Amino acid sequence: MVDPLQSYASHLLDGKINLKSLLPQEMEQLMLDLGQPRYKWQQVWRWIYVRLVDDFEEMTDLSKDFRRRLSELTCVPSMALHLHQQSSAQDTDKFLFKMRDGSLVESVKMRYLESVGHGRIAICISSQVGCAMACSFCASGLAGLQRNLAAWEIADQVTQIQKAVQPLGQRVANVVYMGIGEPFHNYDNVMRSVRMINCGEGLGIGMRHLTISTSGLVPQIRQLAAERLPIRLAISLHATNDALRDEMMPVNRKWPISELLAACREYQQATERRITFEYVLLEGVNDSLAEAEALGKMLRGLHVLVNLIPWNPVEGASYQRSRPGRIRAFQERVEAFGPKCTVRQEKGADIDAACGQLRLRDMEGTARTRPARASRKSDQAHK
Ligand code: SAH
Repeated sequence: MVDPLQSYASHLLDGKINLKSLLPQEMEQLMLDLGQPRYKWQQVWRWIYVRLVDDFEEMTDLSKDFRRRLSELTCVPSMALHLHQQSSAQDTDKFLFKMRDGSLVESVKMRYLESVGHGRIAICISSQVGCAMACSFCASGLAGLQRNLAAWEIADQVTQIQKAVQPLGQRVANVVYMGIGEPFHNYDNVMRSVRMINCGEGLGIGMRHLTISTSGLVPQIRQLAAERLPIRLAISLHATNDALRDEMMPVNRKWPISELLAACREYQQATERRITFEYVLLEGVNDSLAEAEALGKMLRGLHVLVNLIPWNPVEGASYQRSRPGRIRAFQERVEAFGPKCTVRQEKGADIDAACGQLRLRDMEGTARTRPARASRKSDQAHK
């Protein structure tokens, strides 16, 4: 008889196998290792990701003996919901999860456009605690990187938000990796989390409804291309020349614009997927019409969507957001050169949940947000 704990060393939490840390095929293997029929993995997976249950006693279609064995050897942890806030327009919710090491993880729920479907929501999740990229306009990089999130901690943001919205008749239908962190800096865990939330026996979020946003890590763009998955890729470009991009995004010193675009071309050849280019507009810095023209021209030959993001002010950064008239003119100029270009709608600014505003901090001491709509849950330890 195999000692299951031995071969699952990297999945242990408090001496038990963390079932949420397993991929579908690993869960299947665990069932076999426990002397169970192969199909059991689907039953367990459904309890965890469809019925959102973490207590083995509730898994009533499993035999009592098997439930006892599972509770002896394994666990189903949940991240503790530390804070849940809703924006005044009620179109954005911010969730703050507290990890056992005290780290905070932020996720944002956005209400979908009505046209997309009733009750379907999009969420924005984090991939790291802090961020190493140090982009000059972004709040997340201010304190540097603290640690990578484990795959299950990335995926559990989706599971916990699904649990919160299910009673409202809503379903997480779209996930963007645009919260805190650089997803490609934590590539393996991010890709594991993709497989966890994609699994059709559970949350079932389609690859086409998943977007990974990167500041431009070229080797990982190539790696993703080689995986041939229909995931959506978004590139944070933000500048059309290396001198400016070097200044705004230190990652550009390692992989300049020409290399980034070459990797994007390869990605598109391999996947035939449209790529989104994000461009945050900073007044007098990168929002001239000449830059709009350069942007439109440099993306020729690629199938792209340009998404202009009005900059959300960050404490301590000396930028100004571009004025609405300038944003519209910039958009028209880009489109004159071919690429489709949209302007991101702003939501959640009053709860610091707007794009790029997420920032790790101790909410107890320094929250600037309005507490009126906040509901604070007592910290539960991971089970
Ligand atoms: N590290 C990844 C994903 C996280 S950021 C990346 O760089 O793509 C998601 C998007 O928000 C990026 O395009 C980022 O450049 C942008 N962003 C960061 N700070 C912002 C701010 N203050 N206002 C508007 N957008 C911002």
